[in-house]
Amino acid sequence: MTQPFDAAKASAAYQNALEVIASVEPTIAGAIKAELADQRSSLKLIASENYASPATLLTMGNWLSDKYAEGTVGHRFYAGCQNVDTVEQTAADHAKALFGAPHAYVQPHSGIDANLVAFWAILAQRIESPALAEVGAKHVNDLSDEDWDKLRKALGDQRMLGMSLDAGGHLTHGFRPNISGKMFNQRSYGTDPETGLLDYDAVAAAAREFKPLVLIAGYSAYPRKVNFAKMREIADEVGATLMVDMAHFAGLVAGKVFTGDFDPVPHAHVTTTTTHKSLRGPRGGMVLCQPEYADSVDRGCPMVLGGPLSQTMAAKAVALAEARRPSFQTYAQAVADNAVTLAEGLMKRGVKLVTDGTENHLVLLDVSSYGITGRQAESALLDAGIVTNRNAVPRDANGAWYTSGVRIGTPALTTRGFGADEFDKVAELIVDVLSATTPTTTPAGAPSKAKYTLGDGVADKTRAASAELLDKHPLYPGLELA
Ligand SMILES: *Cc1c(COP(=O)(O)O)cnc(C)c1O
Repeated sequence: MTQPFDAAKASAAYQNALEVIASVEPTIAGAIKAELADQRSSLKLIASENYASPATLLTMGNWLSDKYAEGTVGHRFYAGCQNVDTVEQTAADHAKALFGAPHAYVQPHSGIDANLVAFWAILAQRIESPALAEVGAKHVNDLSDEDWDKLRKALGDQRMLGMSLDAGGHLTHGFRPNISGKMFNQRSYGTDPETGLLDYDAVAAAAREFKPLVLIAGYSAYPRKVNFAKMREIADEVGATLMVDMAHFAGLVAGKVFTGDFDPVPHAHVTTTTTHKSLRGPRGGMVLCQPEYADSVDRGCPMVLGGPLSQTMAAKAVALAEARRPSFQTYAQAVADNAVTLAEGLMKRGVKLVTDGTENHLVLLDVSSYGITGRQAESALLDAGIVTNRNAVPRDANGAWYTSGVRIGTPALTTRGFGADEFDKVAELIVDVLSATTPTTTPAGAPSKAKYTLGDGVADKTRAASAELLDKHPLYPGLELA
């Protein structure tokens, strides 16, 4: 399922590039080579990671990086931006065509930056006179909590309603450690305690009571589809802007797995995304929006961004061109099908999954029945060569640090060509490791939340079994370095 590429040409390109790099700083050439070896030899199940194509990756290392191009296409604060204009316009055109979006802004450097652009665009669009001046001429970094409070009041004490972190929401959706939690007075909606599913009536009730300026939908760890038509109805009823952060599942939208009510782009006022997760492009972000938000979104630079990363915008254009091919739809469907196989493989072997299944690219395991924390599960799996990340489950008794969950996604291994047989085997390997993991006992006699023992030989046996799967589906087949 890798994007097809000419292996001989890609090998020569990388070999030559590494030699040029090594002539200046061999440590870095070595680290780049080692990273390829590590990625090739590990069972990568991190739901937010993928493998971009050689064409996408090669597009990032060139002289586009040396050009300043603040502004927008045809309206730059620097001279000589004609080639960057071509790059940015091409990327935006592909994004608009792929997602059916009226407007696309491809400058954000990451998902977080895309959200910042969206927040400021929504505020700029919705607030008559921001009156920043009321809090004086201080730099925003110097604002105390009290000043932030004043600033918010000056801005109208704006409210955001978003998914709670333990239900699968993201830090940038109004949580304290992130700037969004300082900009906005945030309230969360969770999931149904019985089913683990999003309860639209509860979201609507919270929206009626809280009257948010922004209703934000989207997630990092919720294993189900979201009905964005319903979310828009709720937003409309209370006069909120609907913002959808599709950072995780943009590939499923691009690949037409999520359509109709489940496609956020036609329903949201503003949609943000990363480009490097299921979308399989370069590390970066994007904002798509309805026409009335376009002017404000285009002011992302200089509001919260500096000069665009033109080399990355170019790589976005290449990856988006790939995603417009029919083969990407086959890939996206396989990502979703493989997640179902993985979920069934885990459940039939006794694993409890949040929501008892999946409708997207990820599954969330509740490992508490094994008597271990998410942290112990994550570490034991890593000992056995399986790369995942721990994640809170709804109402997690172990908190956000130790957690009771492990999040697992299919986008990366599906790119390698894993199908149903391989994902069933992956489920078996995961269960073997979890069953063989026991918490050690603290001096006080309680089970540790961090330390554990993994049964004799389990790590080696699992590594050997995953090596067999990985050898059958090599990463970047034919790409060889000396
Ligand atoms: C990953 C993610 C982000 C942040 O993306 P970065 O590129 O790491 O900044 C934002 N929102 C959601 C929902 C995400 O999953």
